[in-house]
Order: sequence, then C-alpha cells, then structure tokens
Amino acid sequence: ASVEGFDAEEIENAIGEAGHGPLPVLAVVGRPNVGKSTLVNRIIGRREAVVEDKPGVTRDRVTYEAEWAGRRFKVVDTGGWEQDVLGIDASVAAQAEYAIEAADAVVFVVDSTVGATDTDEAVVKLLRRAGKPVVLCANKVDGPSGEADATALWSLGLGQPHPVSSLHGRGTGDMLDAVLEALPEAPAQTFGTAIGGPRRIALIGRPNVGKSSLLNKVANEDRVVVNEIAGTTRDPVDELIELGGVTWKFIDTAGIRRRVHLQEGADYYASLRTAAAVEKAEVAVILIDASESISVQDQRIITMAVEAGRAMVVAFNKWDTLDEERRYYLEREIETELAQIAWAPRVNVSARTGRHMEKLVPAIETALAGWETRIPTGRLNAFLGEIVASHPHPIRGGKQPRILFGTQAGIKPPRFVLFASGFLEHGYRRFVERRLREEFGFEGTPIHISVRVRE
Ligand code: GDP
Ligand code: GDP
Repeated sequence: ASVEGFDAEEIENAIGEAGHGPLPVLAVVGRPNVGKSTLVNRIIGRREAVVEDKPGVTRDRVTYEAEWAGRRFKVVDTGGWEQDVLGIDASVAAQAEYAIEAADAVVFVVDSTVGATDTDEAVVKLLRRAGKPVVLCANKVDGPSGEADATALWSLGLGQPHPVSSLHGRGTGDMLDAVLEALPEAPAQTFGTAIGGPRRIALIGRPNVGKSSLLNKVANEDRVVVNEIAGTTRDPVDELIELGGVTWKFIDTAGIRRRVHLQEGADYYASLRTAAAVEKAEVAVILIDASESISVQDQRIITMAVEAGRAMVVAFNKWDTLDEERRYYLEREIETELAQIAWAPRVNVSARTGRHMEKLVPAIETALAGWETRIPTGRLNAFLGEIVASHPHPIRGGKQPRILFGTQAGIKPPRFVLFASGFLEHGYRRFVERRLREEFGFEGTPIHISVRVRE
C-alpha cells in the first residue's frame, strides 16, 4: 500500500521517529579530568562540539542529543566542572547530584590510570542512594595493558567496569550497548510514574530575578499541602504547592530557596541545575527581571527550555518598579529579543506586592493545554490542503515542492511530520508553523515539524 508515492512502512517509520516524545536522559558524572567531556564527545559523535573547557569558563550547553544503535537519548555532561566554596568533594558531589536527579541512567567515569579516589567513593555513595542504573566507565584504557587497571575498579561495588578509551574510541561501543540496556525507553521521571500525579513546574531564571521571592509568595498565600519530599543528600528538593485549587509540584525548590552563595563565575553550576530542573518538569515558568534589559543569560535559559521541548510561560517580575518609560522600552525589547517565543503566554507580576499572581496558574494551564494538543489527521490535512492551494511553495529548478499530506506524530510537545514531493525551504516551513499556530493555537508550546521528501 502507498499514499502519494510513500509506502506504508516509510510513513510508519517517519511517524515513529518524529513522535518519539521526550527522550530518556543519561548523565555522565565523575571527578574533573577523568575524561567526561571527551566521552560525551564520543557519544554524541561530535555532532555538536563540546569545547575544551577551562575551569570557570562558562558553558552554554549541558545537554546534548545522542543516538546509538537506533535509539535516541539525551546526555547531560557535567564536564564543565567548577569548584565552589564547598571544596572539591562537595562540589563534585553536588554537581553529580543534579545530573543524577534528572537522569534515567548514569555513566560514572573513573580514571583507571589513577584508580578509585576518595572523591570517587563519595560519588559512589550518591549513586547508591539515588538508586538509578549505573554503568561504570573505566576510562583511559588506551590499550590492552590498561585492562588490569579497569578490573581493579570492581572494588567500587558498582558491577562490571567497562574498559574504555574515550580519546581513541576503544571499548565505547560495548559500553554504549550496556548503557542502552540500562536506559528505559521513555524518561520515567517525567512521563512514567507521575502520570496522573501533580503537574511539574520548573521555576527558572537568572540569579536575582526573584525566583525565591515568587516561590515564597505562592507558597505562603496558598496552602502548602506537603511541605517537603526528602531529597538525597540535600534536604527538600521538590515541593507540592496548592495554587488555584490545584496541587502542583515545583521542581528543585531547595535550589531556589537556599541561597548558596557561589563563587563568582559559577555559571556552569547554575546552568546544570537549571537544565536538570527543566528535564524533570513539564512546564517551565521563566522569570525575567522586568526592571533590567533582557540579557544573554535570559536568552540562554529560554533556549534551554525550548530545546527541551517544554511548555513555557514567561513571567516579567518586579513590575512594581517599572515607570512608563521602562514599560515602553521593555515592550520594544520583547519584540526584538523574544520573537522566538512570541507564542509563550506572558504575565507581568510582582513577587513583592503580589500583583497578578492569580494570572500565573491560568497561564500555566494554557501552556500545558497547548503542549498536549492533538490535531485530528482529517482536520490537519484539510488545513494543509488549504495552505498548499492558497500559498504554494515557490518554484525551484522548474519544480514546485508540494506538501502532499501530514500527520501529528506526537504531543508534549506537538510533533508533526509532513510528507512532501520535494525539499521545503526553511522560510516555507516557518510559514507553515506560523499558520498552524494561527489555526490551532499551540499557545505556550514549542512545536516540531519534520519533513519527509518523496524519493
Ligand atoms: P573531564 O574534566 O572529566 O570532562 O575530562 P576531559 O574530557 O576534559 O579530559 C581530561 C583530560 O584527559 C584531557 O586531556 C583528555 O584528553 C584526557 N583523556 C580523556 N579521555 C582519555 C582517554 O581515554 N585516554 C587518555 N589517554 N586520555 C584521555
Ligand atoms: P532569586 O535569586 O531569583 O531567587 O531572587 P530573589 O527572590 O532572591 O530576589 C532578588 C532580589 O529582588 C531581592 O532583593 C528581592 O527582594 C527582590 N525582588 C524580588 N521580587 C521582587 C519584586 O517583585 N519587586 C521588587 N521591587 N523587588 C523584588
């Protein structure tokens, strides 16, 4: 059977691939210099270069998409390591902990030429407590003579050490096979166990935008249902808070409330924490300080949430401080700086005065609804037919690429596959996305569109 020149299997595969939903998360943890970043480079096939980091150098990215043996997953790299005031052991542990918390499985990297150190042992304790599947990577086994060093790592009690040379690629395939065995098909934290449970919100934003103030405001004004859920080494992590008659789970509130004063330049640490919270959440509330210019750091946080495919609300805080002039300039800034997320519901709040706090929940609900919207295939194709008729793709090389049909392959966020007779230019894809939004809403959610071209 075939449709417009695509055979049934081809269509099925395309839908399966595009509709994968949220990917399981693999965290790569370990001491500094054991080779985590080198390994992550291997795993992601250097499709996105992880730059050689110097301590203290800001790293934008902490999560990457990877694929092995036909399975896709995300990798959280903790290689952009920064020591903070807590000292080396505590810093390694804290950073590993965020990554582990957000992960479905963990690769623990040990430098086999050094052997297990006290810091390694500290991470092992964390891993035990977290109870996530662990694959032990005995790194820097560059040749057969290093195998004995790897064997010695059985002593860590984490099962079989996988001898690997991240630098040369030796043994990485076997280790990745073990990783796939350990990794569930879908992320358990986000979409498995919690189905039907409270919706998960990550309150994110750069330091001093008012996250802690906002959280206190919402938790004080409304009843706190369950005060704390035990974390691992730190105290409470997630908190259930009742808002607008509904119980919500706020992710990593400990990180918001506890004002750990990090050393200057501990940006990577904050990025890791934000990325971990976003991975665990369904909806991200991005807090921006309306009294200041929208910064690169704000943009970076927004990009993180968009790339993670989460529902999103933008809250402009400190509205109480704005005069008319600032309001005017803010609107201009939003138009130019936040065009990429013009679809996100926006609320202008003040954590100090409580202004418009009641608008937060409806905005979050709108975003989650958009995130879960499914368009019936019949309606989608009627709409695509209209687009093709009224706005055909420009003619290229004497041919006119045409959208033949399409389907929504998944939700959370909505993912579409379009089947076309030729390559669809970027501008045209953007146009289709814009029209999809005009027609069906999708407020507060990124949407993905992939295109299959008939051979
Ligand atoms: P990270 O701090 O854990 O992310 O470690 P890096 O990935 O930055 O690696 C630290 C150093 O170890 C670098 O100089 C790497 O080139 C080196 N390295 C990483 N993996 C291997 C390996 O498999 N064999 C050898 N010989 N060196 C490695
Ligand atoms: P966090 O680092 O994002 O958690 O930010 P905090 O909640 O600690 O707030 C940083 C500073 O901004 C504190 O001095 C707060 O009192 C102040 N702040 C927070 N929200 C507001 C607000 O709505 N209006 C005003 N004027 N100040 C605020």
